[in-house]
Amino acid sequence: MISRSGVVDIEAMDTNAFPARRLTVLSGPSGVGKSTVVAELRKSHPEVWLSVSATTRKPRPGETHGVEYFFVERDEFRRMVADGELLEWAEFAGNLYGTPRGAVQERLESGVPTLLEIDLQGAEQVRATAPDAFLVFLAPPTWEELVKRLTGRGTESAEVIARRLKEGEREMATRDTPGLFDVELVNESVESVCKQLVDLMGAQAGAAPER
Ligand code: 5GP
Repeated sequence: MISRSGVVDIEAMDTNAFPARRLTVLSGPSGVGKSTVVAELRKSHPEVWLSVSATTRKPRPGETHGVEYFFVERDEFRRMVADGELLEWAEFAGNLYGTPRGAVQERLESGVPTLLEIDLQGAEQVRATAPDAFLVFLAPPTWEELVKRLTGRGTESAEVIARRLKEGEREMATRDTPGLFDVELVNESVESVCKQLVDLMGAQAGAAPER
């Protein structure tokens, strides 16, 4: 039986295989603009590899299997969890999301700067299993701004938006968990957040210890 968080999977993880300092995690509430920031970052820095997550959510118009996500059925997702294929996973607003472990591990072992764009539950799991990973919280300028962005996106029904906002309240509280995030960036402008993120990734890639 699948539990709400990926604790079982994580316990099976071989954390010693991770040169974790090169792993950067961008987290923050749904609607804050994580995907836009990451897309901008990859335009200017194509050498940064972005993990493609698996999800049971249905594709939005314009989304392609293997590009934004690997869109899978629940049974397939459960199989991935059971077979230890996910580095972390979580249920968010009724859908399952998880990071395929193998691809991340390969990139990290080759020294490729690697980025995960995941929710707060996933960030907590990465912190627990790879304590040296670099965790960034992307915050909205204000709560009202987050509401505006989520409702204005035009991709979700009113019911889905309400559910995501409820999750958002919990997520905004989770960011204060001591020791969870290394840094918080406020998404005032995509360009400035992207630049700060690049600087931070560069600084800590240089500080990566030999393992
Ligand atoms: P969306 O449905 O809007 O694409 O994503 C919903 C939330 O799930 C976002 O906060 C997104 O960052 C997060 N998410 C996407 N992929 C993953 C993943 O692999 N693991 C976790 N824990 N969260 C993810």
